[in-house]
Amino acid sequence: MTDLVGYERRNNVAIITVDNPPLNVLGPGVPEGIVAGIQRAEADDAIEAVVLIGAGRHFIAGADINTFGMPRDEAPDVRGMVNAVENSSKPVVAALQGAALGGGLETALACTFRVAGPSASMGTPEVKLGILPGAGGTQRLPRLVGLEAALQMITTGEPVDAERAAELGLVDEIVDGDLLDGAVAFAASRVDDSGPLRRTRGLDVRPDAPADQVLAQARRTATAKARGMIAPLRCIDAVEAAVTMPFDDGMRRERELFTELVESDQSKALRHIFLAERKAAKIDDVPDDVQPSDVTAGVVIGAGTMGGGIAMNFANAGIPVSVVEVDQEGLDKGLANVERNYQATVDKGRLTSEEMRERMDRITGVVDYDAIGDADVVIEAVFEDMDIKKDIFAKLDKAAGPNAVLATNTSTLDVNEIAAATSRPSSVVGMHFFSPANVMKLLEVVRGEQTSHEALVTAVALGKKMRKIPVVVGVCDGFVGNRMFHKYTREASFLLEEGALPQQVDKVMTDFGFAMGPFAVSDLAGLDIGYRIRKAQAATRDPDERYAAIADRIVEMDRLGQKSGAGFYHYEEGRRTPIPDPEIEELIVAHAAELGIERREISDDEILERLLYQLVNEGAQILDEGIAQRSSDIDVIYVYGYGFPAHAGGPMFHAGLIGLDKVLADVKRYRERHGDTWTPAPLLTRLAEQGKTFEQYERA
Ligand code: NAD
Repeated sequence: MTDLVGYERRNNVAIITVDNPPLNVLGPGVPEGIVAGIQRAEADDAIEAVVLIGAGRHFIAGADINTFGMPRDEAPDVRGMVNAVENSSKPVVAALQGAALGGGLETALACTFRVAGPSASMGTPEVKLGILPGAGGTQRLPRLVGLEAALQMITTGEPVDAERAAELGLVDEIVDGDLLDGAVAFAASRVDDSGPLRRTRGLDVRPDAPADQVLAQARRTATAKARGMIAPLRCIDAVEAAVTMPFDDGMRRERELFTELVESDQSKALRHIFLAERKAAKIDDVPDDVQPSDVTAGVVIGAGTMGGGIAMNFANAGIPVSVVEVDQEGLDKGLANVERNYQATVDKGRLTSEEMRERMDRITGVVDYDAIGDADVVIEAVFEDMDIKKDIFAKLDKAAGPNAVLATNTSTLDVNEIAAATSRPSSVVGMHFFSPANVMKLLEVVRGEQTSHEALVTAVALGKKMRKIPVVVGVCDGFVGNRMFHKYTREASFLLEEGALPQQVDKVMTDFGFAMGPFAVSDLAGLDIGYRIRKAQAATRDPDERYAAIADRIVEMDRLGQKSGAGFYHYEEGRRTPIPDPEIEELIVAHAAELGIERREISDDEILERLLYQLVNEGAQILDEGIAQRSSDIDVIYVYGYGFPAHAGGPMFHAGLIGLDKVLADVKRYRERHGDTWTPAPLLTRLAEQGKTFEQYERA
């Protein structure tokens, strides 16, 4: 046995316990330990059945992601272990609780029986990492739960709970009391079963409907949802083998498809994002012993679009929050919005009425600053106006307790200047939520020049408690996300001037995998916001730099985006579907003529390249300036805040897949054609010349 797997006897039942905290993943040593346990049980005549269980709260949460890239002879042999479990001559009972996921579930599928405690969550999340269950999951799961349910679980990666698993036949019994006792009793009750053991591999896939129809439907659904992701389709190919081939051939097919996927760029990208997300919250220069303060009461200033959503984030995290507005009318309107939002979630069945009431009860509307003194964190979300924000921060400075964190949700203003309106700039931090604030996962935590370590980690910890993905960024115009996004949408407008149309550009980007194209996004956000910012900056703009004026023309036609029924597209009353508009095409053509640009056919490849490279080039500059801590943080920001496809890895990782030398060469070529908006970032040039990727860049 190994240290990671224990073995004990209880009468005629052997108990194999996986003890690899915290999640009992199948890292090096674990599969070997399980195999050793099975062999020991085989060798002991007094043993008549085996229970396989996890120590702690989980069964086995999956394979060890760090072993993915390992050469086959060094990586733990999960497949061999799973086969050894299935080939045991004595019945093996998997005792499932907590996470029984991925390789963990595949191990359980190979057992003779499965019992589960109420906490068990059983699933095959591999597809989310761009792969498929590669230790027999695609062949055994359909044999236990039927084709349709197996396809559903394997292509979505969504887990099922114990009750649903029992309905599906995935578990044989639900154990309400002590799981180990229940599993041992279950095992003991089965030792007298006569006849050969029921092995999952020997079962037929239950035909719930003609298999070809079920498979065709699954392919249609996956194609529609996958936005270019190949893994869901390969999952279906593998499951198909379970109905069309004998078990061993199906296993070979699964392995071929697994190998194809694990070596694909998409899977590399998805694994990169998975790890990048976990790395993002780590702040390199903050010592590990700096503790976040407890947040037991929050305040939000402003009950507008963002303030309401932020208040919901507090309430959803179980933290009582006071929302401050200028007058009762503004307050009533804001809280009514919050209530409508919750009600919509209740209507969709994703929240009970009781939970909604509990959450609403945590939100108190006020029109004075009395509650500020009790707050651990105050988040300001009033109009984007420096004078108003300074005035509010001066007042907060007086009213807030000495240890309170004072946060601003500004998207464009200088956090250092806001902090300077207080006598305690070290307590001031940016918490930049994205709209809708209660939905979007991304949170840019903006670190001011003087922000203290404590304030920073408190903001990050609060973000996590709100189930956001906090990423620490520095102060600059637009921080990381919007600063890059500006370059991206500007380039999209240049493409319009040169010959493209909004619908062409948007389609290229959604085909690449973006949730929405740049023009549909601009319409959704409202075109007036950018317009106001551009007007405010007009005086300081470099007159020689190319300027994208199309959006301004559109706003001047009173087309503000979805909210006015028209922007880059036309919208039918009450609908959000963008409809291409001939009026916009005319405007674009006329605008190009005014600028003396001869419009030409622009290829989809050029559109994709120019939009991606603008993101990459600005991202490189941001990294060089230290505004982002690491390139993977930029990727996380783009995937969780801007709908960049996770299976493309985020802009910086994607550039590495393309090769920075190629990116640089193309950027230089565009510079010759289009001028200074294409000046390569010095870091891009440096890394390309050194043959490195952004991932390999370490700040000196
Ligand atoms: P909004 O106009 O919807 O809401 C602002 C609210 O603040 C209004 O309800 C207003 O009555 C209230 N308010 C104004 N002065 C106040 C005061 N002195 N005390 C209390 N309340 C006051 O604006 P919004 O879209 O929610 O934006 C708020 C902030 O969030 C801005 O800084 C904006 O840049 C930032 N932001 C907005 C978005 C977005 O997509 N809307 C995204 C990220 C960040």
